[in-house]
Amino acid sequence: MELIKIEGLSPQEYEHPFDKKALNALEKTPGLDLLVRKFYELSTEKLMRLEFTGSNLKITPSSFPDVYEILEDACENLNLKTTPEFYLRYDDYFRTLGFTTNNLQGITVGVTNPLVAISVECIERFSRPELLFIIGCEIGRIKSQHVLYEDIARLIPVLSGAITAATFGFAGFSVSIMSGLDLALTQWLRMADYTADRAGLLACQDVNAAMMAMAKIAGLPKKYFNSFNIDDFITQAREFEGFADNLHNKFLKGISLMYRDQAFTIARANELLKWIDSGSYQSVLERKTRIQAPQAPKFCRHCGSELQPSNLFCPSCGNKVMPV
Ligand SMILES: [Zn+2]
Repeated sequence: MELIKIEGLSPQEYEHPFDKKALNALEKTPGLDLLVRKFYELSTEKLMRLEFTGSNLKITPSSFPDVYEILEDACENLNLKTTPEFYLRYDDYFRTLGFTTNNLQGITVGVTNPLVAISVECIERFSRPELLFIIGCEIGRIKSQHVLYEDIARLIPVLSGAITAATFGFAGFSVSIMSGLDLALTQWLRMADYTADRAGLLACQDVNAAMMAMAKIAGLPKKYFNSFNIDDFITQAREFEGFADNLHNKFLKGISLMYRDQAFTIARANELLKWIDSGSYQSVLERKTRIQAPQAPKFCRHCGSELQPSNLFCPSCGNKVMPV
């Protein structure tokens, strides 16, 4: 089946409403602006890149041609003009750093020069369409400019240690500000996954492959890969009642922090199926949702520095970039 290259696709056409809602809440959280400024001051992105590129194999068209081709397909289908750098990450290293909840998911690091990485297990366990879903999720994160807050979310546990906090000039952050930020970021990360899943599906354009990938993330044992009835998983996901509507329930928010390492795959599959059932997925493929993306400003209105279209915040002064 020939896949559709979704011409002119803008993330606003498929972003999940809970993602936007949680992002609004996050951006109103005290301390976030300071944290963003620190992120730029400390050249955190550069450090993360070094950490990453210093220990992982690069996936190139000559080293892993079949895998690299999937990345290219994901970018083309989702209308991302620049192909990000691509890496193969090994075992649990990044998981222990809190980079990802699950070894069967991709990760994306870096705002100005994003790089995408998948694990060895991803290559070994996913079929081509499933891998296209997984990589498509990451391309979706780049398109929606999720990566800055994701990188910052990864920093929080590091900064919570008193000594590191003092070293990096975070001593002024009270415990309550830090935990407020942690909570808002964790909430948003979960909702951002809903958007990423939609991008993954738009990349692979195969509902069963998306569901099978999710079943594998949810822990499907390898020996059942060929015999597993995907309809059972779809039924289970449909029956899941969902808790996303309780976004403002403080108790549930608190509980969700305790389970931050879970991938919540059934909840994600449930949200993705609802989107498909509503007809919205088909409308995007048929280009009925086409909208004009807001124009990114060329210069920062605070300090006049030149901006890249991907800048969510000015890399020079750390102020938020407003679309014109
Ligand atoms: Zn600026």
